[in-house]
Amino acid sequence: MVPRPSPDERLSSWLGRLARLYSMPAEALLAHCGLGRFSVRELEWRLGVGEGSVLAGRTGMTVEGLRRLTFDEITPQARLMIAAASRYVCPRCPAGLHRKATAFPWNFWCDEHGVRFGGRAGTGLDARLPQTQLTRLDPSARSGALRLADWAQGKEEGAPAVPALLDLLTTRHRRSSPPSLAEQPILSLAARRANHDFLTQPIARQALLVVVPEYDRVAPVLAKPVRPGLFSLAQGSLLQNYALAVGVGRLCADPVGCATSVLLASDREGEERLREALRAWSPALRRRVYARLRRLRAPETSPQRASQRLG
Ligand SMILES: [Zn+2]
Repeated sequence: MVPRPSPDERLSSWLGRLARLYSMPAEALLAHCGLGRFSVRELEWRLGVGEGSVLAGRTGMTVEGLRRLTFDEITPQARLMIAAASRYVCPRCPAGLHRKATAFPWNFWCDEHGVRFGGRAGTGLDARLPQTQLTRLDPSARSGALRLADWAQGKEEGAPAVPALLDLLTTRHRRSSPPSLAEQPILSLAARRANHDFLTQPIARQALLVVVPEYDRVAPVLAKPVRPGLFSLAQGSLLQNYALAVGVGRLCADPVGCATSVLLASDREGEERLREALRAWSPALRRRVYARLRRLRAPETSPQRASQRLG
């Protein structure tokens, strides 16, 4: 008896359900099939022809059908994005069923049920972002997610490349600083003394906060910083990953405008770090960024600015 895989179900989920039917761990099931030297994770990542036909023979599936359950289409560079278990939870999907989509940090909706995922702890994005704001941010999150999914499958053709975009978003554009008054809860003098460590703790300030100011306003201050580069998404929370997807979407739509606003908001050391991150962009795009930066920084009295104002 073999259960049929659900749409988009991942191999570990399906093997887990099959093994539970026979009251054994998934690894024991593999050993029973003569595949004891492989872990479920390994097979789920890349199912070799030999292992595929052994498993197909024992379960009555086709090798092609089994391969659809794996992450075969994901490039090695993006493998760190595949979580061992579902990152987010669909309120309508059956418990114990894990779909491939929920392994990736940039999928925020269940394709089967058309609803928004919640975090594993039970809180959704709407706990921080009001529905009207989410509706405004969703198109950027979706276009960012498309771009990230294409990159993970090696389909990317656009520039700058996804790793370069994430490097820029996670660059510290200003020096770390303690929570600002706006970021602090209202505290009595006694409470301020008791929370001295929190109130004086330096918080990393990354370009993401400039590209997605909506995130800056709502993220809990201690959980605002994300990890550098690709790790930001691989290890981010639901809110962090949503903000990163919005950031990628905005950077793809207007790379010059976004990069310029971050540079304008940076301090001297931050600008050096940003310029370093921008070296991964094409020279043509970089030239446009620095040309716009010069124009915006030019003194108000320059003839160019004056004519712009008049025009
Ligand atoms: Zn669902």
